[in-house]
Amino acid sequence: MTILGIETSCDECSAAVVRDGTEILSNIIATQIELHKPYLGVVPELASRLHTEWIGQVVSAAIAGADMKVDDIDAIAVTNRPGLLGALLVGLNFAKGLAASRGIPFIGIDHIRAHLYASQMEHPLEYPYMGILVSGGHTVICKVLGYDEIEVLGTTIDDAIGEAFDKVAKHYDLGYPGGVIIDRLAKNGDSHAYLFPGPSLDRTEHPYDVSYSGLKTAVINQKEKFWNGTSVQTPENLAASFQRSAVGILMKRVMKALEDTGLTRLAAGGGVAANSLLRSELSALEKNGLTVAFPSMKLCTDNAAMVAGLAYEYLRDGRASGFDIGASPRVTAFKKN
Ligand code: ATP
Ligand code: MG
Ligand code: FE
Repeated sequence: MTILGIETSCDECSAAVVRDGTEILSNIIATQIELHKPYLGVVPELASRLHTEWIGQVVSAAIAGADMKVDDIDAIAVTNRPGLLGALLVGLNFAKGLAASRGIPFIGIDHIRAHLYASQMEHPLEYPYMGILVSGGHTVICKVLGYDEIEVLGTTIDDAIGEAFDKVAKHYDLGYPGGVIIDRLAKNGDSHAYLFPGPSLDRTEHPYDVSYSGLKTAVINQKEKFWNGTSVQTPENLAASFQRSAVGILMKRVMKALEDTGLTRLAAGGGVAANSLLRSELSALEKNGLTVAFPSMKLCTDNAAMVAGLAYEYLRDGRASGFDIGASPRVTAFKKN
C-alpha cells in the first residue's frame, strides 16, 4: 500500500510517500524556520498562511520524488492533532480534498503518536517497549503496548524539554531554534561549569513525572545575577551545563521506569531525540542488555514520513477516517491511565 503523508501541525510543511509502512520513497520537509526567526518563535497566523501557499508544491514534489503520479497513491494520511489549529486545518483540508477527488481512503493521525512511531519505521521493536517522547511541546515516558495503545507513566508537569531548550536559547540570544544551537555550543563547553538545581517534585505519587520550569528559571536567572562574560561564563559552558541537567532530569526518571517495569526495549522520538547527549546516554543503556532505538535525524523533528508510516498500521486494520473529522490543538494519544 502506497500512502501519501501530509504534516502541517507547526512550522514544517511536509509531504512524504511511504510504501507498506516502512519504505520511504520521498520525504519533503519545507521548513518555515527562516520566516519565523525574526519573531524568535512560531507565529501561528503566519504558519497557516505559508502552509496554504506551499502545500500544493510540497505534495507535488513528494509524489514526483517518489517517481509516481497522483493515481499511484492508494491512501492519504494527515496530521489532524495536536498542533496549531489553523496550521493543521491547511493540511487536513488539502488531504480531504485530494482523497475525495481520487476516491481513496483518508486518515487523520495523531502527531505525537507518529513521533513515537518514527523509530519503529527504521528499527522495528517488539511490543511492549518503553517510549520516550521528547519534543517542542511534549515530554512523555510511556509504555508502548501497540501502535494504538500507550500507557503513560510520566509527563512534564510544566514546560516540555524542547521548550526549555528554546527558551534558554531565546533568553541568551543564542539563536533560533534553540535546541540544535545549544547542542552544538555544548560540545565545546564544560558541563560542570554551572550547577543547576534538580526539580522538587512529589516523587511518591508521580515517580516518573518531570519538570523543566525550575531548571529553565535557574538558567535564565544566571543572566541577571552573574552573566558578565568571565572565562567560566561562556555560552558554551552555560549550554553544556544546562544540557547536562536537562538530560539528567529525564534520564533519572527513565532509569526508574525501566527498573520498575522491567522493560528491556526502548525507543525515543521527537525533536529532542536528535540531541547528542541524550542519544549517547540512552545508547549507553545497551551495555546493560537493553535494546535502544532512535529515529534517524531527519525523522526526529516534524516530517510526513512518520505520519504515513503510522497510517499504514491503521489502514491495514481497515481503520480509515470519515470526512467529518476535524482538527484539534489537544493531545489525544496520551491520556493518563
Ligand atoms: P510537538 O511535537 O510536541 O507538537 P514540535 O513539533 O514543535 O512539538 P518537534 O518538531 O518534535 O516539536 O521538535 C522541535 C523541538 O526539538 C524544538 O524544541 C527544538 O529545539 C528541539 N530540538 C531539535 N534538535 C535538537 C537537539 N539537537 N537538541 C535538543 N533539542 C533539539
Ligand atoms: Mg518545527
Ligand atoms: Fe512535532
